[in-house]
Amino acid sequence: MRAALAEAQRAWDLGEVPVGAVVVKDGVVIATGFNQPIAGHDPTAHAEIVALRAAARALGNYRLPGCELYVTLEPCVMCSGAMMHARLARVVFGAPDPKTGAAGSVVNLYESAQLNHHTQAVGGVLAGDCADLLRGFFAARRAAARAARGEGAVAGVIDNPVDDLVQGPAGQP
Ligand SMILES: [Zn+2]
Repeated sequence: MRAALAEAQRAWDLGEVPVGAVVVKDGVVIATGFNQPIAGHDPTAHAEIVALRAAARALGNYRLPGCELYVTLEPCVMCSGAMMHARLARVVFGAPDPKTGAAGSVVNLYESAQLNHHTQAVGGVLAGDCADLLRGFFAARRAAARAARGEGAVAGVIDNPVDDLVQGPAGQP
């Protein structure tokens, strides 16, 4: 998860919402990815999708049996579906996403008996660090927006950590 956090920082450095992912096979990181939908004009360029594509290329296989994906934020429906199609063994995520999380926060695709899959989901790993990164990003963005409007810090306004995980105006997680 530390490696996934480093990927998330790369997203921040490029102005993207900081979510990072790595794919691990036999204890070795075989692929990395960070959230980048804005730069690529690609609504599917979530960290997990980027990492899955890189892992599949690295293995020369569209399926990733025996692989685990570590991601700093609970995966959405799209990413969960992609991981199930890839036959990923397990996804380990950090912070929960109360707005789009598909591993229990909004829906839980991983416990859906109707879906033919075997991917397991485990959450809460380094959740504090993962959430802090997102909070810091959105706080900095709000501060920059206020500064651009020529406003100082607004007294009495308290940052809401839950809102910090809300998808931004561009629809990034
Ligand atoms: Zn996603």
